[in-house]
Formats: sequence, structure tokens, C-alpha cells
Amino acid sequence: MKIHEYQAKGLLKDHGIPVQDGVTIDSLDDAEDAVDQVAKEFSANRFVIKAQIHAGGRGKGGGVKFSLDRESALENIKTILGMNLVTHQTGPEGRRVKKVMVAQALDIAKEFYVAITLDRAKGMDVFMVSSEGGMEIEEVAKTSPEKIVKEWIVPGFGLRPFQARNLAMALGLNGDTAKQAVKMFTALYKLFQTRNCSIVEINPLVVTEQGDLVALDCKINFDSNALYLHPDVIAMRDLDEEDPAEVEAGKFDLNYIRLDGNVGCMVNGAGLAMATMDIIKQRGGSPANFLDVGGGANVETVKNGFRIILSDPNVKAVLVNIFGGIVRCDRIANGIIEALKELDLNVPVVVRLAGTNAEMAKEILANADVDLISADSFEDAANKVVEAAGA
Ligand code: GDP
Ligand code: MN
Repeated sequence: MKIHEYQAKGLLKDHGIPVQDGVTIDSLDDAEDAVDQVAKEFSANRFVIKAQIHAGGRGKGGGVKFSLDRESALENIKTILGMNLVTHQTGPEGRRVKKVMVAQALDIAKEFYVAITLDRAKGMDVFMVSSEGGMEIEEVAKTSPEKIVKEWIVPGFGLRPFQARNLAMALGLNGDTAKQAVKMFTALYKLFQTRNCSIVEINPLVVTEQGDLVALDCKINFDSNALYLHPDVIAMRDLDEEDPAEVEAGKFDLNYIRLDGNVGCMVNGAGLAMATMDIIKQRGGSPANFLDVGGGANVETVKNGFRIILSDPNVKAVLVNIFGGIVRCDRIANGIIEALKELDLNVPVVVRLAGTNAEMAKEILANADVDLISADSFEDAANKVVEAAGA
């Protein structure tokens, strides 16, 4: 799960980490009050107006604007609030800006990159810093990986003081600024660990002209499987920022992820779903989604699955590939028939059912008054659906 910059900064503040602070609004009516409040509360006479969307690269896309006075701050709020912001992370369609942060402007001496995430290969959290902050870290990782310094965290030990000092030194810090960094990194790891984050990234972490360390930006993602432990995190969820089809699927415990192909897939089990996407690709097609309807699929699940798959206008054919293990194929067959009758389908549907009661299911489908293409093997199903989508 993702949250906005202003929410992430709230969590940093809770952990005693200094941030570029401000006030976040979602209506132009509040613009003047917000600017005045930031001016007063943070003794600011210059401002940075920052689009709040769940994507990075806002600066380059025109979603972060430096404002030298109150008037230009108001002008920039007007420009950014409601704009369609396109960044390298939003895709070409962009994202509507529904909230802006009015932030205090800071005088920056240096910009660093700081992040914590899980290193799956090592099975340990990794704390990364780089003196090359502000710019795209992917570029640094590619062209000069030695400029990213890492400390791996042994489970159970946390970030140890010598590691925090190593990281501060890697950024060339000394004196009081280094002390601030050690304290900050320790707090940051605690935040990462206690909230079950999957990434905490500060880019840039800045040293101000006054020699203070401040988080200018912050991105935090959470492990969705651990959300039940953190009601306060769940409360920060912004459904406006998520794919509506994925949100809808979540309501029915369906595991749906939208992709950019044209073959809709309804499969039970994540492994079979992955294999189905693979074989579609191999046969020259392209999957429109990943959809795992789970082990206990029933009539309702199948209906909802179809509805969600078909909400994607790119879908030109659907492949239902179900293995009857816990779930019985005859029940799935009935679900498919009901769904096809109820929903106004205008794309071909290929069905392959295998496992418990598969023969019975085939009979049910053959005798039903619905339009579908029956397939015997996995391969047969893939060939048929790719052909149907291309036709
Ligand atoms: P991102 O582009 O989505 O990562 O948004 P950021 O919050 O990181 O802002 C983009 C860039 O704007 C930063 O890397 C800074 O260079 C610049 N910026 C943001 N706030 C300030 C500020 O208070 N002072 C100065 N001088 N630059 C700022
Ligand atoms: Mn940034």
C-alpha cells in the first residue's frame, strides 16, 4: 500500500525526524489560509507547492513549484491543483492532482538519497545512502553503483550504531550534522520495522545552509499482508490513487492486477495464473491481467471475476483456466453459465476446466445455451484464446 508524501512526512515527524513541513489542501478555497498558516507556523516567506499523487518524478513533470512570495504561491496552487500530472511513473495518461502540499521553502546546501527496503536475495533489510541525491537513483545505480553505500541489517539486531555511523560517513558528514544523521537513520529504521514498511525512501534528504538535516521528500510503501496490524496505516489509504478495477477486486478477495495486453485471464491459484500468462505470451498473445480467484471459487466469484476483467476495454477474449482441486469444476461451470447469461459479453470466452468433476463440467457447458469455446488441454486453451483475441 502506498501513501502520499504529506502522510509519510507525518510518520517521520512522529519518529522525531525533521521534515520540510507544510499544510495540505484539496480545495482552492483553502489556498490563502494554507499559505498564511505556513508563513506563520514555519516563519516562511517563500514556499514550495507540491502535487500529492502516488508517483514520483513530480518535480520534472511540473508538479513541484518554487514560489518566491505569497502571490506566486497562490498562482502555483491554482496551476497544480486539478492538473493532469504526467511523470515517468504515472504512465502517459498521467494522474489528476487532488491534493497539494504548501511547504516551507528551504535553502539547500546538499542533497542526498536515503532508503530502506528488503533485500530479497540476502534475506535482510538493506539501508542505502548516496551522496547523489535529488536525481533519479536508478541512473546512479546503473552508471556509478559504487556511489550507493549499503548496510545490511541482521534480523533481530536492528540498525547498529556503527552502521549508522558508517552511513553518515559515507555521505561525508561530520560534527553535529553527522550526529543528527545517526539519530535520524536509527529512527528511520525503527519506523520501517515497526510499521511493516516495504520501502522508506527520502529523496532528497538535504543539508540546509544552516547545516541541518531535513527530509525534503518522503515515500513510504507498506507490506499489504501486514496491514491488519496497523489500523492507523489503513486509515491513510487513498482509494482515489488506486486502479478502480483493483479496488473493486479487493472487495471480493480477488487478486487482480491489470496489465496492458488483450487476453483476460480468470485462473485459480497464483502459480497457475502465472503459468497461464506465460503460455499466452509463448503463443504470441498478451495477457490483460493477472487474476487469481482463489481456492474456494464459486458462482459469485466467477461472476465478479468476469465483471472486473471486462471492465478493461482492451480485453478482446477471456480465458478461464480452472483446476478443480478444492473447488469442483461443475460448480465453476454453473458459475460461468450464470455469468455469461447475466453479463452482456461481447468477447469470446475460452474455457478449460481440469480436475475434480471436469467431465461433468464439460457436459454442463456443452448442454447450456451459452456461447463459449471449450478447450481440452492447457496448450489447446492458450492457442484458442490467442487466436480469438487476434480475430
Ligand atoms: P519528486 O520530484 O516527486 O521527487 O519531488 P521532490 O519533493 O523530491 O521535489 C523535487 C525537487 O524540488 C527536489 O529534488 C528539490 O531539488 C526541489 N525542491 C523541493 N523543495 C525545495 C526547497 O524547499 N528548496 C529548494 N531549493 N528546492 C526544493
Ligand atoms: Mn523526490
